[in-house]
Amino acid sequence: MGGSGKEFVREITPQGEDFSRWYTDVIRKADLADYAPVRGCIVFKPDGYALWEKVQEGLDRRFKATGHRNAYFPLFIPESLLKKEAEHVEGFNPELPWVTEAGGEKLEERLAVRPTSETIIGEMYHRWIQTYRDLPVLLNQWANVVRWEKKTKPFLRTTEFLWQEGHTAHRTEAEAREEVRRMLDVYRDFVETDLAIPVIPGRKTDTEKFAGAVETYSVEALMKDGLALQAGTSHFLGRNFARVFDIQFLDEDNQRKLVWTTSWGMSTRVIGATIMVHGDDRGLALPPKVAPTQVVIVPIAPQKEREAVLARARELHSALRGNLRVVLDDREEYTPGWKYNEWEMRGVPLRVELGPRDLKQNQVVLARRDSGEKQAVPQATLAARITELLADIQADMFQRAKEFMAGHTAAAGSLGQLEEIIATRRGFVRAGWCGEAGCEAAVKERTGATIRNIPFEQPDDPGPCVHCGGKAVHQVYFARAY
Ligand SMILES: [Zn+2]
Repeated sequence: MGGSGKEFVREITPQGEDFSRWYTDVIRKADLADYAPVRGCIVFKPDGYALWEKVQEGLDRRFKATGHRNAYFPLFIPESLLKKEAEHVEGFNPELPWVTEAGGEKLEERLAVRPTSETIIGEMYHRWIQTYRDLPVLLNQWANVVRWEKKTKPFLRTTEFLWQEGHTAHRTEAEAREEVRRMLDVYRDFVETDLAIPVIPGRKTDTEKFAGAVETYSVEALMKDGLALQAGTSHFLGRNFARVFDIQFLDEDNQRKLVWTTSWGMSTRVIGATIMVHGDDRGLALPPKVAPTQVVIVPIAPQKEREAVLARARELHSALRGNLRVVLDDREEYTPGWKYNEWEMRGVPLRVELGPRDLKQNQVVLARRDSGEKQAVPQATLAARITELLADIQADMFQRAKEFMAGHTAAAGSLGQLEEIIATRRGFVRAGWCGEAGCEAAVKERTGATIRNIPFEQPDDPGPCVHCGGKAVHQVYFARAY
């Protein structure tokens, strides 16, 4: 029993040794995904897909609560449609796969496999929107998209990935801008509340914004290796797509006007973020709200007491499963110690241990995945105690992630300082920026760090630009990023 735990840990590279290998080891060992026989693509295995389903549930509920409905548009986009917005097609061009042949014939017009759907949706909004009474249009699509990436990594960057993309059309600029910020806040709320990952909301610089957008907003998170990750984006598209696709409406004043549009997206990347923010050398650690299994019951049964212990374990399992995602691990071929290690590695937040002595005392022992803390709990109050503990675990995981982010956020007054922080301990570096793309590019060139975003919270005096020393217009967050 003692040796099996070590074997488990030995199969996962320690984070401190090689974080990137730790990440892929955990995904393989926890059985979340596998590499597909297609370049840069992965297969979501049931536990990995169950995590995505939890993301979908959490987001979809929030989208509907803010008035959106789901629709579905085609996977293929005719070249003529995609080319209408020049900046947009330019931004995606090297990553676009094309269908040129089908049905045994060369196609008259080649079809792009969608990298995102603004263009085909723009074309449909042109047909659907006639008067101000048709507005706003508030749609979301759950879909797969394809971007031919050079370097891929499970969940973080794959050639085909799953996401949602919201697309809305509005009568006024103010309404569209309000939508952009509302959806960014939906992302912030979901990532912080359900995934227990703190984020920095803010606006992207012009260099980093979405191709075709007037402004892009993002929520940025920090991984345990000190690299930042853009968890979700919300774009104010102005009238760019409305102009190109001629999306007009007849307003109350009898004037024809162009609509204002937005789009916003979150992808399977957030699964990668959840792994990298909470996991440790023992494997995954999942926040209770999204854990596919929240509680595992492990009976500890010497042969002669086996039936009695198992009978009680089954009773507890059926009592709990109504409200919780509970698994009873009654496999005979593994020892309890082996099972503890396996479920810890899979990130299950809470373990219920039940042995002959617990049976006599009408109790169980609860063990937390996040802190390792154990406590005996009377069986009579078990359900209530588990509910409390899962809430505590969720809150504590968020708190620890917040402390990590605060501990890995520093201020830099000079380029030398910024460079040193990025080179030695990474993390977020808050510094002044004059707003010039040249300074942004120079910092990137020298340190590898990009401006993640311009946070909404700003000091009265942002100080000097970290690169040129001129007057800064904002303080920004620099980091190296996934
Ligand atoms: Zn500058």
